[in-house]
Amino acid sequence: MLHPRIADPYATRHILKKFKLRAVKGLGQNFLIDAEVVRQIVEAAEICAGEDVLEIGPGIGTLTQGLLEAGAFVTAIELDKKLPAVLRETLAGYENFRLVEGDVLKINLAELMPRPFKVAANLPYYITTQILLTLLEKNLPATKIVTMVQKEVAERMTAAPGSKIYGALSVAVQFRSQPRIAFEVPPEKFLPSPEVTSAVVVCDVRKPPFAVDEEFFFKVVRTAFAQRRKTLLNSLAVFGKEKLLASGIDVKRRAENLSLEEFATLATILKTR
Ligand code: SAM
Repeated sequence: MLHPRIADPYATRHILKKFKLRAVKGLGQNFLIDAEVVRQIVEAAEICAGEDVLEIGPGIGTLTQGLLEAGAFVTAIELDKKLPAVLRETLAGYENFRLVEGDVLKINLAELMPRPFKVAANLPYYITTQILLTLLEKNLPATKIVTMVQKEVAERMTAAPGSKIYGALSVAVQFRSQPRIAFEVPPEKFLPSPEVTSAVVVCDVRKPPFAVDEEFFFKVVRTAFAQRRKTLLNSLAVFGKEKLLASGIDVKRRAENLSLEEFATLATILKTR
């Protein structure tokens, strides 16, 4: 049974007051204040004792405490320089906790997490997409990525080809994993309340379905969606129009209509010929 004591509105207000802190909007700080949501995230991540878990943005330690109580070895990366002092107090006594101070987008994650690990995080919403792409495009030994994101981002992560919200993020998520929206979380479960509904997405990482030069594949995908209104012939012209015309794929189509497999075919042809 988990006892995350920080995940409570009174405890959170008390901690912020004690350390003379205010949630910093520019850092996407919306602290969870509901123990049941923490429990649900830990459950969705299927945390077992002794597992390595990477948390991005521990804040004052709310979700961290749930993960630690479940027996995980948690490495947490936090950018806000004021929070380490808080975490030293709120998570005092947990020996399975390691704090790394810095920006998740600048830290070498492969070096930090060399063994299989899970990700569990309530992400800062201003850089959700960059964080997810960093986790997915680098071939890290992550086995499960469980993140709280804006509901709209959750829908993009799980969108199918042909839908208006299908984009580079959908392709990266679905190339690397099988994603599903586990549950939604309303604004009042956070302090301060965000303006949007949130959702927890579980990405079960698996071997990519196609053998392809991954770096080049992601480059093609990003280039194609950078100008999503254009036809493939125009958006991917930098890779060579002749190769595109010989690819066997109708280049009058747009990126938003291409399946993962078609992107892989295109990337292979554009790279090798
Ligand atoms: N995990 C806490 C919770 O659930 O209550 C806080 C989540 S809050 C939505 C996002 C956290 O990410 C904040 O603590 C913020 O300071 C941190 N953060 C923002 N940008 C970051 C970055 N580039 N690298 C690491 N942490 C970051």
